[in-house]
Amino acid sequence: MSDYSQLDDQQLGELLQSLLRHPTAEQDPSSLQHELRVHQVELEVQNRDLREIQQQLEASRQRYLTLYELAPVGYLQLDDRGWIRQSNSAGAALLQQSAEKLVGRSIDDWLSDSADRQRFRQHLDACLAEPGQTHQLELLIRHHDAPPRAVLVISQAVEYRYPARECLTVLVDITDRNRIAALQHDVQHDPLTGLANRTLLMQRLELALQRAARHETFHFALLFVDLNRFKAINDRLGHETGDQLLIALAAQLQTFVRQVDLAARLAGDEFVILLEDISGLQQAVQIAERIVETLKKPLRLASGQELFVSVSIGIASNSGHHDSAAELLHEADTAMYRAKRDTRQAAIEIFHPEMHAEEMARLDREQELRQALERDDQLLLYFQPVVALADGRIQELEALVRWQHPRHGLLCPEDFIDVAEETGLIEPLGQWVLHRACEQLQGFRTRFPALRNLCVSVNLSSRQCRNSNLAQHLATILKRTGLPGACLNLEINEHQPIRDTTCLTELPEQLRQLGVDLSIDDFGTGFSTLSHLPCLAPKYLKMDPSVIAHLGDQNPRSRIPLAILGLARQLELEVVAKGVETPAQRDFLHRAGCRLGQGGLFSPPLPAAALEKLLAHQSGEVTRHCR
Ligand code: C2E
Ligand code: MG
Repeated sequence: MSDYSQLDDQQLGELLQSLLRHPTAEQDPSSLQHELRVHQVELEVQNRDLREIQQQLEASRQRYLTLYELAPVGYLQLDDRGWIRQSNSAGAALLQQSAEKLVGRSIDDWLSDSADRQRFRQHLDACLAEPGQTHQLELLIRHHDAPPRAVLVISQAVEYRYPARECLTVLVDITDRNRIAALQHDVQHDPLTGLANRTLLMQRLELALQRAARHETFHFALLFVDLNRFKAINDRLGHETGDQLLIALAAQLQTFVRQVDLAARLAGDEFVILLEDISGLQQAVQIAERIVETLKKPLRLASGQELFVSVSIGIASNSGHHDSAAELLHEADTAMYRAKRDTRQAAIEIFHPEMHAEEMARLDREQELRQALERDDQLLLYFQPVVALADGRIQELEALVRWQHPRHGLLCPEDFIDVAEETGLIEPLGQWVLHRACEQLQGFRTRFPALRNLCVSVNLSSRQCRNSNLAQHLATILKRTGLPGACLNLEINEHQPIRDTTCLTELPEQLRQLGVDLSIDDFGTGFSTLSHLPCLAPKYLKMDPSVIAHLGDQNPRSRIPLAILGLARQLELEVVAKGVETPAQRDFLHRAGCRLGQGGLFSPPLPAAALEKLLAHQSGEVTRHCR
């Protein structure tokens, strides 16, 4: 027998071919020796192939073993009890144990949470029940002396020889991924309510704008939702309740958003809802109306407390051209401010381009008012007499501010008080009015000693009411001008005591100490709670002009002034009827027991010089009468 192992592959192949095709002459191809030779060569060829395959397999095994060990994820082989049969280095590192020591241990040893252990058992059972199917779950792997790691477990059961089954499990450390996801969530969400924050809203809004630019049929809208009087609620009930209210409102708003929409909290009590893929503006309006309607029922806070709240909603849609998301948001914001300002109308406003011009005008007005206050040469104080209905004699004065605007002429408070209130300019403006009113009245009192009991009423804004320094300011002004506190009367709006509890608590007592009176203005228009009246002890209830507008009609409202007068009598309070314009009104009120009136019938608000003439006349009469 020859030794063929020295031959290389090619030589062996050629030999086999030639043996098959050209048997040597001395050998009969059918002879046993020839067959044996052919067979031997064939076996040698197969042997060579097998050796090669074996080498390839070994190389492949080594390659996979290296990859197995190098892999950054843990590879485990588990038996059907969940015990570890083998682990790669990453698995060992994740479980903080050498690969050898892991053998025979259960993953349960790293699961301190019983719920996690149960979930892992179920995971294993599910894998073993369906070999070849992949299952996965997230677990928290705990260590004694290191922070827990979040791990994604991916397993598949394999069946080699029945019944020997095992689970091939991959462990992926997702702690950092989760942390990044959590960070990303934090970066994009409001921690208090869990809603999206401004960052996420703006991203989504940009995307919506881009989509709308590509697809003509894609419509979206923004609802800018602002809680009315949130500050007052916060002040009255505390910040904890305020926070609970924001959380409850956020949850309520979430019920109006679909999967494609987004509810966000921008800041404080400002929420925005992005409605995507809507049929048009009308759909946005309907959703806004449903929000307003739903909030007519009280909101239930986590503490169990129930609060009635209302919102103002501004709507802007992608109709029209928008350069940026910020522009669209600004439009919704502008519309919301309009809704908020116009509290008597619906709480919903749709943005229209003229609002921008109006907003600019308001900004201009604010700047001009600021300058007017700084320069102190455009603001004027007018005075309107309050007279005795019986004889028309002046009993009191109401100070009413005017603004001699360089371009627009003489402006009434309705043209600038709101701007002043919104911007805080009402504080210096109110100070100016108080000082000028006291100074002017003191001047009249000095000039007309017969009228030394004359008082001046000054309207107080809600901001001034809340200002804790008000009493101190008043004391300074009274001291500087020399006016006795008893000659000053402050008018607060009927709604004020309900809005600001300061009006019920500190303010009346502080005024009492200064000898200054308090009156309730616009009485009969708001939600005055009668129970507050004794605590406020007002000098006057100033009946709103709208209350007496229907006097003499068949209208049931015509009886309201009589009801107010009856109430005042019972509480021993004096009523001033404002807006008396006709002798008939005067006579009716007088007959009904109303002693004081104010209105066009007697005198419009007058500049100090004009009023001085009236006072001089009355003073002369008084003096003559006294003689
Ligand atoms: P108010 O306190 O109710 O003042 C009375 C308003 O009624 C004045 O309007 C006065 O001009 C107007 N009036 C006078 N006679 C008649 C009449 O016969 N019929 C009717 N319907 N109205 C009459 P004015 O001066 O435009 O002031 C409007 C409001 O602006 C005031 O209402 C007050 O709430 C506010 N206001 C005026 N001055 C000040 C101020 O110095 N500070 C603050 N915070 N508010 C002020
Ligand atoms: Mg008034």
